[in-house]
Amino acid sequence: MKYISTRSGAPDLDFEGVLLTGLARDGGLYVPENWPQFSKDDIKNLRGLTYSEVAVKVIQPFVRDVIPDFDLKALVKDTYQQFNHSATAPIKQLGPNQWLTELFHGPTLAFKDYPLQLVGRLFDYILKKRKNKITIIGATSGDTGSAAIEACKDKKSIDVFIIHPKNRVSEVQRRQMTTVKSSNIHNIALDGTFDDCQDMVKDLFADQVFRDKHNLSAVNSINWARIMAQIVYYFWTAVSLGAPDRKFIYAVPTGNFGNVYAGYAAKKMGLPIDRFIIGSNENNILTRFFAPDNIKGRMSMSPVVKTLSPSMDIQVSSNFERLLFDSLDRDGKAVANALEAFRKNQTIEFGEQSWSEMSKIFEGISLSDEETKASIMNIYNSTGELLDPHSVIGLMAGRKAKNINDNIIVSLATAHPAKFPDTVNKATSIYPNLPAHLSDLFDRDENFTELPNNIDTIRDYINKKISERSA
Ligand SMILES: *Cc1c(COP(=O)(O)O)cnc(C)c1O
Repeated sequence: MKYISTRSGAPDLDFEGVLLTGLARDGGLYVPENWPQFSKDDIKNLRGLTYSEVAVKVIQPFVRDVIPDFDLKALVKDTYQQFNHSATAPIKQLGPNQWLTELFHGPTLAFKDYPLQLVGRLFDYILKKRKNKITIIGATSGDTGSAAIEACKDKKSIDVFIIHPKNRVSEVQRRQMTTVKSSNIHNIALDGTFDDCQDMVKDLFADQVFRDKHNLSAVNSINWARIMAQIVYYFWTAVSLGAPDRKFIYAVPTGNFGNVYAGYAAKKMGLPIDRFIIGSNENNILTRFFAPDNIKGRMSMSPVVKTLSPSMDIQVSSNFERLLFDSLDRDGKAVANALEAFRKNQTIEFGEQSWSEMSKIFEGISLSDEETKASIMNIYNSTGELLDPHSVIGLMAGRKAKNINDNIIVSLATAHPAKFPDTVNKATSIYPNLPAHLSDLFDRDENFTELPNNIDTIRDYINKKISERSA
């Protein structure tokens, strides 16, 4: 499989290349040159398989030319057998025609473990083969950081720098990152918002000298490998609930657009998905964009506000670029121009044709913090399920969607309630406990460095840490 940049100004790469590169050299994101196709029979043949077996079938066409099937099977099996639920991603019924796929049974209790546990192993596998080292730099709104750290700790071939916005992640989230004792893990608390952290990572990648010196790579959803591994649970869920004979609507709590974009990829591969409902908090740039009367396709940034669902406190969703690439007929120059203008003016009109194409498949619904809390309580009372503030936004977005017809609605539960215990407690008076493997989290020592939002300071810090490690 060949991968191409959404801005058409970077070399085409194979899977090994995109995994190790992360962001394309022209600032774009890599996407597969074409979508592997699953026929109805191919989909039927996934019935009765385990999560790992489905994962192998879905991932194979993306990696086959660089990873032999035998090795892929071993890597995937090793990844998911250490998850905490025998179904890996259990699917629960919450109402007539209403289902929930739980994606919080990995080591750090958020959906990001599903891709990152595999991506960590893929890095290790390929770096050992190449006898090479890389430096991972990632921005996190809370959950990517801990999932990446957990996936890469103790791996000699990888140095990991995770930048989180200071005081803007929950205490559980911060402690999950800062209490991991491994000399290759470095936590930075940046004085700024998540968007500032994400810009910092983009700017470090744009520094070609620095980038080449340290072999920078990414674990954010700008890395294609992560999207690829997320496609799996869309297939897993749909097949478990009757695909290809039934059609689906997925409701996805959305921040950086990576999770829902993986669903879009599954649709492109032939999975019968009617459309996607994007759930957001008050950072609802996408809800405004997909509003039925926004026919010129205007997208405008507003300042990021702090909410009860911090992993979605994002304005600029990186992966939207991948969708835009398709909606602009894969014209990379047009994507580059549009996004440069958006950055400069904070607002842009993508035009009627491109917008109406996207709006056929996506709808946005946003919840205030008050609605989020009330919904956690309502769902608990009506189903007995305790949902975290992100998962409940996905669920409610699915419930508020129109024109369901005979589609099955599935929402994705992206975090365990114990990751956000204070909000869940305020909403329900129940304090969700951490699972056993994390029960002493609050007794562990923390280790992180506070740094200003300044690229020179961050660059110096990274240079210093890497030279200390190799000394
Ligand atoms: C990261 C995250 C999201 C947002 O996912 P995107 O892929 O960035 O859209 C939603 N919920 C939780 C709990 C997360 O950690």
